[in-house]
Amino acid sequence: IRKNPSEYEFHQAVKEVLESLRPVVEANEEKFRREALLERLVEPDRQILFKVPWVDDKGNVQVNTGYRIQFNNAIGPYKGGLRLHPSVNKGIIKFLGFEQIFKNSLTGLPIGGGKGGSDFDPKGKSDREVLAFCKSFMTELCKYIGADTDVPAGDIGTGAREIGYLYGQYKKIKGTCEGVLTGKGLTYGGSLVRTEATGFGLVYLTEEMLKAHGHSIAGKTVAVSGAGNVAIYAAAKAMELGAKVVTVSDSNGWIYDKAGIDVKALKEIKEVRRERLTEYLKFRPEAEYHEGQGVWQVKCDIALPCATQNELLLEDAKALAENGCIAVAEGANMPTDLEATKYLQDKGILFAPGKAANAGGVATSALEMSQNSERLSWTFEEVDEKLKGIMKNIFFNMSDAAKEYGAEGNYVLGANIAGFLKVADAMMAQGIW
Ligand code: NDP
Repeated sequence: IRKNPSEYEFHQAVKEVLESLRPVVEANEEKFRREALLERLVEPDRQILFKVPWVDDKGNVQVNTGYRIQFNNAIGPYKGGLRLHPSVNKGIIKFLGFEQIFKNSLTGLPIGGGKGGSDFDPKGKSDREVLAFCKSFMTELCKYIGADTDVPAGDIGTGAREIGYLYGQYKKIKGTCEGVLTGKGLTYGGSLVRTEATGFGLVYLTEEMLKAHGHSIAGKTVAVSGAGNVAIYAAAKAMELGAKVVTVSDSNGWIYDKAGIDVKALKEIKEVRRERLTEYLKFRPEAEYHEGQGVWQVKCDIALPCATQNELLLEDAKALAENGCIAVAEGANMPTDLEATKYLQDKGILFAPGKAANAGGVATSALEMSQNSERLSWTFEEVDEKLKGIMKNIFFNMSDAAKEYGAEGNYVLGANIAGFLKVADAMMAQGIW
C-alpha cells in the first residue's frame, strides 16, 4: 500500500489471492522467502504509460492516457484485454493484469498475464473519433506487442469495431499479418465463438458447479447484470439451457422482465444500434425499467454479475441470500467485493470467482492465436467443444485444489491455488527475472 498508494482495486485483488495462498505459502515458506516469489509475483514485469492525442469532430485535440501492464510471462506471451472507459487508471489496469495471470494459468493454455487500456470513453463518439483514438493508441502500443510477445484483446468499451481499427493500424505500421490481437473479425483472422466465449463459458462452468452439488441450471431463475458482451451471451446460453434470465443492467438502470429477457431485442439494442437499455421497453412494453442499481434485489436462484468490478456488495449479498439464491458465478472481473464474497460463502451459497468463471474468453482468444499460427479456421462446433472442455477442466482443477488444501467447495481458494502453482513452478524453473 505504501509502494502503490491509491491503487485500491489492485490491493483488493492481491489481498484476496494472498489470503487464499496461505496454506501453500506456509508449506513452502523458506523456499518462497529465499526466492522472493510473492514479491516478484505482485510486481509487474513492465508498466507502460503513454500519451494518446487525437482530434475530435470539432477539430479540437483531445489527450488521453494509454496503459499496458505486462505483468507476468512465465508461462507464455502476455495476454489480456484493453479496457476503454473513463474510470481507467493504473490501479484498475494492475488489478486486471494481476487477476489475468491466474486466470490464464487456469485455462491450461500457454498464456501469461497482462492488461491495458485508456481513460478514453468510446460512448457517444463518432466512428471517426474512435478511429482517430485507436490509430493514436496503436501508434505507441505497437512498439511493445507482438504475436509471441504480448497479445491484447477486447474488454469493457473495446469490441469488434475497436479491435478492427487497432489491428488495421498495427498492420499499417508493422506490415505483418500476425495474430497480435484477438477478438478480430471473422474475415481477417478472428475465431468463431470468440464473441460468445466469455458468456457461454461462464454458463458452462456454472452448470458444472451446479451439477457437482446436485443441481442444474434448467428451470432456474437467473439475475444477470450488465448488458455488454459478457452479459448478452451469458443470458443467451442460460436461456438455451432452460433457465429464465429476468434482469440485465447498464450504468444508468436495469431491466426486469419477468417473462424472461428477449435476447434478440437486447442484441439489436446493444450490438446493432448501440443504444441505452431504456429502449428495451419499445420491444417489450410489459417489462420494467428502473433507474440506478438494483438487480440483486430481485428474487433469483442464480446470480451472474457481468458488468464491472465491485458491483455486488454486502447489502446485495444479503438480499441474494434472503431471496434463496443458491449460486453466484462472476462473469465480470472482481464484481463481488471481499466482504460480500465471504458472506455468500459463509451462507453456503456456491461461489465461482471470475478468474475461473470468465476464463472462457481468454481461452478462446488463445484458440484464436493457435488458428492464426497454423493459418487455419476451425468450425463453430470445434471451438465450442474445446471451450466446454476447458471450462470443465477449470472447474475440476479448482475443485480438486480446494479439496487438497482442506477447503472443499471453496472455489476462490481453489482457483487461486491452482492458478498460482503452475505460474510459481514456471517462475522458479526459469531463474530470477
Ligand atoms: P462491455 O463494455 O461489452 O459491457 C459492460 C456492461 O457493463 C455494459 O452494459 C455497461 O453499461 C455495464 N456497466 C459498466 N459499468 C457499470 C456499472 N458501474 N454499473 C452497472 N453496469 C455497468 O464489457 P464486457 O461485457 O466485455 O465486460 C464486462 C466485464 O467482464 C468486465 O469486468 C470485463 O473485464 C469482464 N470480462 C470480459 C471478457 C470479454 O471477453 N469481453 C473476458 C473476461 C472478463 P454502460 O454501457 O452503461 O457502461
